[in-house]
Amino acid sequence: MRIPLVVANWKMNLSSAQAAGNVQSLAGRLHEGPEVDVVVCPSYLNLGRVREIVRDTPIKLGAQDVFWKESGAYTGQVSAGMLYDAGAAYCIVGHSEKRGRFGKTDLSPEEIAYFGESDRTVQLKIQALQFHSITPILCVGETESERETGRTDAVIREQVARATEGLDPSELYFFAVAYEPVWAIGTGKSCDVAEAERVCGTIRRTLAELKDENSAEQTRILYGGSVKASNARELFAQPNIDGGLVGGASLDPEEFEQIVRAAV
Ligand code: PEP
Repeated sequence: MRIPLVVANWKMNLSSAQAAGNVQSLAGRLHEGPEVDVVVCPSYLNLGRVREIVRDTPIKLGAQDVFWKESGAYTGQVSAGMLYDAGAAYCIVGHSEKRGRFGKTDLSPEEIAYFGESDRTVQLKIQALQFHSITPILCVGETESERETGRTDAVIREQVARATEGLDPSELYFFAVAYEPVWAIGTGKSCDVAEAERVCGTIRRTLAELKDENSAEQTRILYGGSVKASNARELFAQPNIDGGLVGGASLDPEEFEQIVRAAV
């Protein structure tokens, strides 16, 4: 049985005081927690403060990204070892905003150089996280033009295959995938529920083919892209959707609590 997982991605939002206030409010709301794993991913700078607040609560700490090298002359980067040290139990990797996609397929060389995420860097990040027993949350998703040209499944399968290359099937027990159609992120346009379920099912079948059926059955697959209190219950009721990765709506503790409760 897969325990539902609901992840708050706060992105580049909230001051230290606001992050503390938000997570305090959430901790109060979830203290008699439902049977759901709840993860909050603040900015790197707020990991320490949020960690102190979630220490004796069911809420777990997550990071929004990682660099794959262990240490060295990598200015501005944060390693998996550092995240472990900071108390992170989960980490998002390959978010479309880090892949520089923002719904586009034709990126300028400057944009690619700036964001620099590729299937290969995602793969290296996953390996670094697993070495430190941090659960990766791999984001995959197609852009609007990939969907319109009938390439959704091919894009998703390729992203899953490349990211999980070299992963032992047993490592899927500590692994989650978030299906995040790029055109649905932060736009208010959520994916049709039946289509979200179909793509999440495709991800599970891809993992079964690449690794093994049992491990794929244990992997939590989330939906992300304009999840709100009003659509969460229907999305999370689907057999292959085990919870959500939530951006905008996770900034409001009251709404996020309702989303968490929708996953029970
Ligand atoms: C996200 O950033 O992962 C996300 C799904 O954002 P939003 O919920 O705002 O669409």
